[in-house]
Amino acid sequence: MNDYRVLLFYKYVNLQNPERIVLEHLHWCLQNDIKGRVFFANEGVNGTVSGLVENIEKYKLHLKKYPEFSDIWFKEDVTEEHTFKKMHVRLKDEIVSGGLKNVSIDHGGKKLSPEKLVQLYQEKKDFVIVDARNWYESKIGKFKNAITPPMKNFREWKKVVDHDLNEFKDKTIITYCTGGIRCEKASAYLVESGFNDVYQLDGGIVNFIKKFPDTYWEGGMFVFDERRVVVPNSKEELKYIAQCHFCGEKTSYYINCHNQDCDKIILSCQNCKLENDYCCSDECRASLNKRKVFHG
Ligand SMILES: [Zn+2]
Ligand SMILES: [Zn+2]
Repeated sequence: MNDYRVLLFYKYVNLQNPERIVLEHLHWCLQNDIKGRVFFANEGVNGTVSGLVENIEKYKLHLKKYPEFSDIWFKEDVTEEHTFKKMHVRLKDEIVSGGLKNVSIDHGGKKLSPEKLVQLYQEKKDFVIVDARNWYESKIGKFKNAITPPMKNFREWKKVVDHDLNEFKDKTIITYCTGGIRCEKASAYLVESGFNDVYQLDGGIVNFIKKFPDTYWEGGMFVFDERRVVVPNSKEELKYIAQCHFCGEKTSYYINCHNQDCDKIILSCQNCKLENDYCCSDECRASLNKRKVFHG
């Protein structure tokens, strides 16, 4: 078995010439068998990469050589193989697309440690916890009692805050996302919108489930790589919160309908996926524009 690692990282920092780093970075990654996707922008970096443990160690040192990233926080997971097929390095306008470019992360919510969140739950404190991720992420996993707005993408966060969260302006409100990057802006937007007591979960779900599996996180964690989902809990009742679209069996596994004109994201157990030819409906099964490549 090979010993691979997957890294998740970001940093909001003023970058003078992000376009200069892009090519350098891609070149370095290709030479060192690092795969994944890394975005650079004037506001910083956002990335997730995989590689053999020795290459990942080199990668961390390499990125930290840039003064802007010397104190970057790498969240790390063990895996048996690359979790990406290719390496993409891109120059972006924002490191997370959310239309929140003018929101200042200096206004971000207070950082809440996983320990503190556990304590709030244990002491049954009065707080509101909101998922800042997309609907298909929160559908398979969420914090206990969390509000899970049905967002198609992060661009809808503003609308969610302005319309659905208004009633919580005077409550303690906690936001969370996968690794923390979306919450830096999501929580800042809450503060700038007049919310009084705003927190963001420090290091995101990734950081929490490592320290406190089988507690207040329910279900799986959606990831944007080949693994698709990480299942942190071992207690049977905390493993799954979603069901197969076809048979209702518990699952956290998604497929994109193989009819490319449909491409709908649906939850499917392994059996039903095969039985339905990776399609969401009989109509889609009959399509002539189906994907040729199968995975998982
Ligand atoms: Zn099924
Ligand atoms: Zn379909």
